[in-house]
Amino acid sequence: MAEKRDYYEVLGVKKDASADEVKKAFRKLAVKYHPDKGGDEAKFKEINEAYEVLKDEKKRQRYDQFGHAGVGGASGGSYGGGNPFSGQNVHFDFGDGGFDGFGDIFSSFFGGGSSSRSRSSAGAGRGQDIETSMNLTFEEAVFGTEKEVALNLDVQCDHCKGSGAEPGFGTKTCPTCKGSGQEVRVINSLFGPIQQAQTCHTCHGRGKVPEKACTACGGKGVRREKQEINVKIPAGVDEGSTIRLNGRGEAIMGGTSGDLFISIHVQPHKKFTREGDLILSEETISMVDAALGTELEVETIDGELTMRIPAGTQSGTDFKLSNHGVPHLRGNGRGAQIITIKVQTPTNLSRKQRDILEQLRNTR
Ligand SMILES: [Zn+2]
Ligand SMILES: [Zn+2]
Repeated sequence: MAEKRDYYEVLGVKKDASADEVKKAFRKLAVKYHPDKGGDEAKFKEINEAYEVLKDEKKRQRYDQFGHAGVGGASGGSYGGGNPFSGQNVHFDFGDGGFDGFGDIFSSFFGGGSSSRSRSSAGAGRGQDIETSMNLTFEEAVFGTEKEVALNLDVQCDHCKGSGAEPGFGTKTCPTCKGSGQEVRVINSLFGPIQQAQTCHTCHGRGKVPEKACTACGGKGVRREKQEINVKIPAGVDEGSTIRLNGRGEAIMGGTSGDLFISIHVQPHKKFTREGDLILSEETISMVDAALGTELEVETIDGELTMRIPAGTQSGTDFKLSNHGVPHLRGNGRGAQIITIKVQTPTNLSRKQRDILEQLRNTR
């Protein structure tokens, strides 16, 4: 993966730029590089990513503190509300490659959409694509898993191997098209009837039909069947990711099968939330622990860990645990976990505690 550029540099603003300056710089660059206007897509993506972070006060603070690791990188999914070109459907696929045996992973940079991903059309000779969805727990999405999806779909008929002909019998000339593979249909248009040549519906353009139709599928070459499909979910998928399994859609006689698209839904976790490859959580400590420092047992996706809280920790301070975030969907390594410390002010003090705090006050 290429080295990421500094977000301030990407937008061409100073480190202390105001929110307004950031916004103006972004607008200018976004117009310049918008792919719909012939701009550079990679550049546009980079600008958007930088803006998503710098426009958000909390994320900008984390970025200043931890760099790119503090804002979850670009694993997608976090661009939901931020599309400045609302109304236009801007999508970026991760493209092909990688993940042998996993199928293709798509992840839209602009939140969840499934409307405009690239796919082949189900024209003549190609079966229908199938879309389904899968629910994962937070952990399953983070670490990956294997699951079955059960679907009713057209699969190739075993008996005739998809030919539609009863084995042992020959073929004959198609009675509909007389062997030409084409039939002429009359279509009523505004200008009167028009003759149009179309692929013959009886023989699907082959000019020949079986002498005897397959007794198992009635000559259709396919059979509706319940299929249990084993799907490998790679570590790092997120809400809105789509997994594509080539050739696992509907079969069609004499053609190639369609593809199966599985859109991923991730259940919320009671402790953690996610931003790209970052896992975010909160821990509460007492006022005294915040002042004196302490060792704290914290929950991570990998189990409990002891974390040192330094003396003088303020409420709202973020701590980064490297390598306890989400594995990168494409590539090696993991993101970080960001733990936000909340300091609790005590209520219902005992007499003794109250006295101690009074004494503390008087030492000032
Ligand atoms: Zn058959
Ligand atoms: Zn025909």
